[in-house]
Amino acid sequence: MLPAAKRGTPPEQREPRMTVRIRPDLDQLPAYVAGRTVAGSLKLASNEVSAGPLPGVAEAVACAAADAHRYPDIGAARLTEALAAHLDVDLGRIAVGCGSVALCEQLIQITCTAEDTVVYPWRSFEAYPILSRIVGATEVQVPLTAEHAVDLDAMAAAITPRTRLVFVCSPNNPTGPALRRAELERFLDSVPSDVLVVFDEAYREFVTDPDVPDGVELTARYDNVLALRTFSKAYGLAGLRVGYAIGPAHVAEALRKVCIPFSINALGQAAAIASLAAQDEMRARCAAITAERVRVRDELIALGHAVPETQANFVWLPLGDRAGEFNEHCLAERVVVRAFAGSGARITIGDAAENDLLLGAAKSFPLHG
Ligand SMILES: *Cc1c(COP(=O)(O)O)cnc(C)c1O
Repeated sequence: MLPAAKRGTPPEQREPRMTVRIRPDLDQLPAYVAGRTVAGSLKLASNEVSAGPLPGVAEAVACAAADAHRYPDIGAARLTEALAAHLDVDLGRIAVGCGSVALCEQLIQITCTAEDTVVYPWRSFEAYPILSRIVGATEVQVPLTAEHAVDLDAMAAAITPRTRLVFVCSPNNPTGPALRRAELERFLDSVPSDVLVVFDEAYREFVTDPDVPDGVELTARYDNVLALRTFSKAYGLAGLRVGYAIGPAHVAEALRKVCIPFSINALGQAAAIASLAAQDEMRARCAAITAERVRVRDELIALGHAVPETQANFVWLPLGDRAGEFNEHCLAERVVVRAFAGSGARITIGDAAENDLLLGAAKSFPLHG
């Protein structure tokens, strides 16, 4: 035992112990609900592609893994160059992120403080409210139309002098509809030019309707529009976390400023470059999925579900109060869907055999029971 003089302040003279203070508003923060992985069950809950990474990608990752003791390229230069060439845009207009979800957060960080508002459709990508609250921006949620589409007139009406950022998700996750050129251009023409409109097109590669505009083209014509894309969905790299933004150069620069250093890891960068080189295979996979999308949607409609139009790799069942019950029923049938309590269920389109399993489960669900 130490002599008394070295034992420090006697307990009775110490300050009372206190708990480390955390921002109290985080108590109200909703948790991001990830699609569940259940051993022995088919996962159709996270809009992943089931075919795996594209050809050449696993090899590129294995090669990059040999250098895993080195920090990654902080600026993702080779990937940015590959994207610039692929999209035919200037390097300076691209920002790469640790998944496009990280870019969503960076977009709020670079535009909003607590007094500023971010406007987004709801229900839509569940990260929008979470990230807005983490950053501390004020949010305005704009309800979807009766057809489960983003309501652009209502979005335009929700913009005030305090608005700095507007998320437009097309195709909309989790409901599926995409916005058409004419309505979108009318909307963009009405938005004040100092408000950034983020066109979140995580499912762009699955769009088959030629009337759905390409976000990258819109960014060339509107200097307050940014397109957000990801390698997680059609490119099959959800596990490696790479997304990218194309927009005004000063916005891309601000995004790079607030990016967490080295957060786009070396394996992800190598995988994304290799994935870009496998365009034909990616397109063939998307074509198979979009053909299956038509079949699955038609069969679900025949069963009595009011499935909205979809341009993504998923369908939405607006089940309302029965969403939870449908979820349980599918789990019992060994199919994992993504249910949103009281609202509906989102089901990823898989390959034909996977979709047959889902349709089998849907057929035995007593819709009018
Ligand atoms: C999946 C998804 C993203 C994010 O994908 P990352 O894996 O973070 O790149 C962004 N927006 C929407 C609408 C999505 O569905």
